Amino acid sequence: MPLVPLLPLFHRFNREYFNGALAIGSQPLLSVRWSDGRLRKTAGFYRRGLRVDGRNSCEIVLSRPLLELLPQTATESTLCHEMIHAWIDLVLQVKESHGPNFHARMAAINAAQNQFQVSVRHQFPVPQTPPRWWAVCPRCGLRSPYQRRVHRAACRQCCDRHYGGSWHASCVFVYEPALPEA
Ligand SMILES: [Zn+2]
Ligand SMILES: [Zn+2]
Repeated sequence: MPLVPLLPLFHRFNREYFNGALAIGSQPLLSVRWSDGRLRKTAGFYRRGLRVDGRNSCEIVLSRPLLELLPQTATESTLCHEMIHAWIDLVLQVKESHGPNFHARMAAINAAQNQFQVSVRHQFPVPQTPPRWWAVCPRCGLRSPYQRRVHRAACRQCCDRHYGGSWHASCVFVYEPALPEA
């Protein structure tokens, strides 16, 4: 699923589910953007920041690497979820994460349409990060996926079997770069 532009979605949701409260005319109260490739632990977040001039700058960031693999409804429900956080913070101006205001607005949005469901937790499968290296045991040939090379790491199986569990240089992994996934 290619990434959709977020601003038109934001404006539509703002009109339909937030009575237009998250924008002044065509100017959103916060910025909305896709992350770079590194945001993999969460589907999205809302945060309040402070500009150098001391004014608030708030933003919603959605995970490009997670959401680009999923149907557009995942983007819609994630954006809506984060917009509820923004609405509680900027419009209601109360301190709350997933409290009564969040639940009430979420229930209203879910009742108003059946395209997507907003949930408290982002329920998406987090894809496995493909390994960057294969650690290969020179003794037994065992291959293990690693994200980074670990200096002097050795094959546990061979150290146990041949050296009574002690580290031995003959079992130190040799690293092969993993081919990027197609
Ligand atoms: Zn949340
Ligand atoms: Zn081994």
